[in-house]
Amino acid sequence: VSLTDLLFTDLGPHADRAALVDGVTGQSLSYAELAGAVDRLAAALAERGVGKGDTVGILAPNTPYYAVAFHGILRAGAVATTINTLYTADEVAAQLTDAGAKLLFTVGALAERADAAAAAAGIGEVVTFDPMEGHTSLAELLATTAPAPEVPIDPAEDLAALPYSSGTTGRSKGVMLTHRNLVANIVQCNAIFDLRGEDTRVLGVLPFFHIYGMTVIMNHVLAIGGTVVTMPRFDLEQFCRVIAEYRTNRVYIAPPIAVALAKHPIIDSYDMSAVDIVFSGAAPLDEELAHAVAGRLGCRVRQGYGMTELSPVSHTIPDDREDIPVGTVGVAIPNMECKIVDPATGEELGVGATGELWCRGPNVMKGYLNNPEATAATVDADGFLHTGDLARVDEHGYYTIVDRVKELIKYKGYQVPPAELEALLLTHPGIADVAVVGVRDADGEEVPKAFVVRQPQAALTADEVMAFVAGRVAPYKKVRQVEFVDAIPKSASGKILRKELRARQPVPGR
Ligand code: ATP
Ligand code: MG
Repeated sequence: VSLTDLLFTDLGPHADRAALVDGVTGQSLSYAELAGAVDRLAAALAERGVGKGDTVGILAPNTPYYAVAFHGILRAGAVATTINTLYTADEVAAQLTDAGAKLLFTVGALAERADAAAAAAGIGEVVTFDPMEGHTSLAELLATTAPAPEVPIDPAEDLAALPYSSGTTGRSKGVMLTHRNLVANIVQCNAIFDLRGEDTRVLGVLPFFHIYGMTVIMNHVLAIGGTVVTMPRFDLEQFCRVIAEYRTNRVYIAPPIAVALAKHPIIDSYDMSAVDIVFSGAAPLDEELAHAVAGRLGCRVRQGYGMTELSPVSHTIPDDREDIPVGTVGVAIPNMECKIVDPATGEELGVGATGELWCRGPNVMKGYLNNPEATAATVDADGFLHTGDLARVDEHGYYTIVDRVKELIKYKGYQVPPAELEALLLTHPGIADVAVVGVRDADGEEVPKAFVVRQPQAALTADEVMAFVAGRVAPYKKVRQVEFVDAIPKSASGKILRKELRARQPVPGR
């Protein structure tokens, strides 16, 4: 089926339940209202000549309108290209141009950037969710009386979404995801999450523009008839207030939020008792940190792994598996074939060995947009997607992600995974946040360097940081340089931007 059919063909018992609630304004949208709005938006898009195969951009923070725009675009047979709200006008324009978008949805607060980008990309019409001078408003489109178009969808071939990868390792790539890809991943996740619509209230703070928020929060919860409470951006105090006020029982986060939940004093002044599961993905979650969050909130903590190219989930700890260590990413989800491979030879490795993780299944992307070379280098002839991540699997089938192949620091012929050192450093009480990257020392040798954010009031020295690590790891993994910083640069999806830290380093010999 298409994603549209999966979500809207039969609303059944949840037609009058809230599908989405705006956690800031309290405004809510029932399933019947959402389905109606999606139909009318598709009709209005069809009137504008937007139909099968066309692409429409969305540059907006999470609100219930996001789901209306996203699913209205799909209902019209078109493809939603979802855009990072932190992008500059030039970056937005580059994505719109690459994607060939015909129209752009945005909000008042981003309209200036959206207009500049749309102009640069040759897009004539920018639609704002809230009415705004000089723009078409979503309400105007929804006022149409035209019937929704009947667009036949071939789920295996037709694209539904065109999100861009996070750009952590290089330029963001447009990832072509079909209806089948997105539906498959919802079904795969649903088999492993223990959720029933009537008692599922999910906090939707991770951005819907990123595949994690798009599939795991917005689309999975809508598919099962649960309620998503949206937040437009992360703010710790508001995050706690929304959890307390709306009694959300499932909270999807990325590791930077886990750091706040474990360490920030304000958590204790809110009623977090509704939270049953905190689920972390997108970047490595340290086991001790996870236990600290579980203890502080009195909830279960789970971890999953995925990537945009996998729609995104491939591994997760099932809700009911307290026995699987939360420092692992759990098991491969149903219908996901995985192997650990020596990246140099392509030879499959056994239990316990570290190698590149390869995955095959119905959630593997159709390819990268306008980039057949990158597609061929990533998805092989047998259909396995080469994740670029190093992992190992134990005798129970539990997977541990080690780090990205590209991020390994090569110290004197040894390989040092920065993620391991970061996890260790985060256990230091004087460290609020940290990132480790490989830098060249005076001799041109690559060495691990830690960028450290101190806890307020902590009088930590560089020597203490180095000694803390040296006492706990093999000598070749020692941190050899330390710099104290105010903040660690992170992407909107919660990943450390190591390339930014690396770019700040002086190049030796110049
Ligand atoms: P780009 O491909 O543009 O460089 P990106 O890989 O960060 O950016 P995403 O698709 O958002 O873009 O992220 C997928 C990556 O996130 C994975 O390849 C992996 O490196 C990392 N990741 C996701 N979940 C986890 C996890 N639980 N533990 C460790 N790493 C994770
Ligand atoms: Mg990637």
